[in-house]
Amino acid sequence: MNLADEYKKMGISDNVIALADKVEVSLKNRFEEIDKQAERNQLRVLKAMQEAGLQEAHFAPTTGYGYNDLGRDALEKIYAALFKTEDALVRQQITCGTHALNIALSANLRPGDELLSPVGKPYDTMDEIIGIRQSVGSLAEYGVTYKQVDFLPDESIDYEGIRAAINKNTKLATIQRSRGYATRHTLSVKEIESIIDVIKSVKPDIICMVDNCYGELVDDKEPTEVGADLCVGSLIKNLGGGIAPIGGYIVGKKEYVNACSYRLTSPGLGKEVGATLGITSTLIQGLFYAPSVIASALKGAIFAAALYEEQGYEVFPSSKETRHDIIQAVNMKTPEGLCAFCRGIQAAAPVDSFVTPEPWAMPGYDSDVIMAAGTFISGASIELSADGPLKPPYTAFFQGGLNYPHAKFGIMMSLQKVLEDKNN
Ligand SMILES: *Cc1c(COP(=O)(O)O)cnc(C)c1O
Repeated sequence: MNLADEYKKMGISDNVIALADKVEVSLKNRFEEIDKQAERNQLRVLKAMQEAGLQEAHFAPTTGYGYNDLGRDALEKIYAALFKTEDALVRQQITCGTHALNIALSANLRPGDELLSPVGKPYDTMDEIIGIRQSVGSLAEYGVTYKQVDFLPDESIDYEGIRAAINKNTKLATIQRSRGYATRHTLSVKEIESIIDVIKSVKPDIICMVDNCYGELVDDKEPTEVGADLCVGSLIKNLGGGIAPIGGYIVGKKEYVNACSYRLTSPGLGKEVGATLGITSTLIQGLFYAPSVIASALKGAIFAAALYEEQGYEVFPSSKETRHDIIQAVNMKTPEGLCAFCRGIQAAAPVDSFVTPEPWAMPGYDSDVIMAAGTFISGASIELSADGPLKPPYTAFFQGGLNYPHAKFGIMMSLQKVLEDKNN
């Protein structure tokens, strides 16, 4: 039996199989680049593990307070080595990326300080942390003010605006690497470097923090290698490799990471507590898998871009552009198109494939949102998933894929559903 027959048994038409074949052939060189990147990243990760002296004894579980947890210390050493930082806080007690960001901000800001976002409005869930949307426990409630510098109309970074926004109270700059679900472009590590350079040239003691979500191991360097004082992310995205069941990380200068540890646990306790309950090996193994999982997600994103470009859709980034995160956006033009796209991703999932995603009103969004995910780890967006707000231009945001064959199949199924919908 050949491959096309297998696809047909899974509900893919001859037309979509032929299109996918054609598109995939055209991507050979790009895929080779990504494989090389994965190779380099695998060596970076391996080196970090070896430098940290990782050994089997580190996988022993701790309970209770979790004092003297050698595995936890090794995990944090590995992250510090990978990011080339003085220290790291990598914990399952950090519940998600938003929580990690909240810890980093609230640990390092004090009443009267000002927080600066030099790259426009940050990710939605930051609104309530900062107090852009009024909420209980926000930084605004604690007397931390906020200033934002938007991108210029041509999407370039407003360096003059950033210079002008800095004042004597400016204490911390939060720089979001990935576009997230906004229409702006994703920052390259080089762009992050130039933003940090400008900020530090005006006021060297401003803490430069990067929201690193979705960007990890996509460029050859991490922001901490070009001047970032802190980098923050989620373990159910890139660096958990699809295996980590929970967790977040904060890496950077010892002083700032320490402050985070006192905020996460308690003043006086810091990094000393936090039992690992036996999941240390999973978090470390996840990091070990991350380079190849990220490569699969990137190939899936590029394949999606090329396939939908071929069909005449607007896609961001294009199939030819250099990638700085794993997110792919496709403007589906109509609500029906967006819903069909998501139905295809869902139908291709290993879990909950029989579920039909429907748009619903999500808190914090001004329109209905549709989401497709059939994941092993609940909500893990390093696994194949898609979502989008039901408003023009009906953009499907697509990301993840634990392996390339599944990412490819998911995208083929999405196009299958889109084409079937049109024929109806
Ligand atoms: C996902 C994400 C977050 C928040 O992470 P959660 O784990 O969903 O809380 C923050 N910023 C960016 C850019 C993200 O992509």
